[in-house]
Amino acid sequence: MSTERVALVIGGASGIGWASAQALAADGCRIVVADRDTEGAAARAAQLGAPHTSGYVDVTDEESVQQLFETLGPVDVVLNCAGFSNVGLITDMPVEDFRAVVDVCLTGGFVVAKHAGRHLPEGGVLVSISSLNGRQPAAGMSAYCAAKAGLSMLTQVAALELGPRGIRVNAIAPGFVQTPLTDPAAMIPGVVEEYVENTALGRTGVPEDIAAAVVFICSPQASWLTGEVLDLNGGAHLKRYPDVLGHVMKLAQA
Ligand code: NAP
Repeated sequence: MSTERVALVIGGASGIGWASAQALAADGCRIVVADRDTEGAAARAAQLGAPHTSGYVDVTDEESVQQLFETLGPVDVVLNCAGFSNVGLITDMPVEDFRAVVDVCLTGGFVVAKHAGRHLPEGGVLVSISSLNGRQPAAGMSAYCAAKAGLSMLTQVAALELGPRGIRVNAIAPGFVQTPLTDPAAMIPGVVEEYVENTALGRTGVPEDIAAAVVFICSPQASWLTGEVLDLNGGAHLKRYPDVLGHVMKLAQA
């Protein structure tokens, strides 16, 4: 591994990715902020200042992922934060809506792992952002729960396959973190309250909670850590997920 670690942060223009990019930069990494939001990624790289840079990537388009890795040169850390969710009953959901979430959250995770696995050197690290919903079901979130469960398992398989080359593969499974992704859910009365009630620590997360774990997992101090899916949620995995769909329906009827 080079002395200056290069960290590619996919989905780095917003939320958990952006907080992680800042934390990895503070830890001494040179950051490449990559996102499908090209302008957002460029603005974030400018905020970090030289020598940090940005790039375009859409994890649902393998060619863009391959191109990004090829133009990047040596990379030591890959963090994949791309993801989104939708809400709807299985019996009502168009299959295209289900596929759209799986395409980003699971197939996108596979495509990133494939190209990261080809480019990372010995000592390299891949971290994916999975979710509490990969182990805790939520009615109305079939695509997201299934995709994130798949991403958590994909992480373990990739750790087995890449371990012999000295590449570590881990995931973080956050609970409810305040970001632009969760802003709409946070505005539905009852959702945040029910999440907080069902935690041990009595609060939602902030992106910096996740970024701190990213920095540790990517550091040489974690050199024996691989195949781990880290529950990071204030203890929410000990209880149950909020009834998001119930709160949505209550709001629709009001
Ligand atoms: P966010 O603020 O929306 O950031 C996600 C970033 O990824 C956005 O810049 C987004 O661009 C980008 N992105 C989305 N699809 C992409 C694609 N196909 N290719 C490249 N970039 C793409 O969301 P966040 O809350 O930080 O979430 C980051 C990750 O954490 C996601 O995987 C999410 O599922 C996971 N997570 C979040 C929470 C939470 O409570 N926030 C909890 C558990 C897990 P656009 O703005 O253009 O969509």
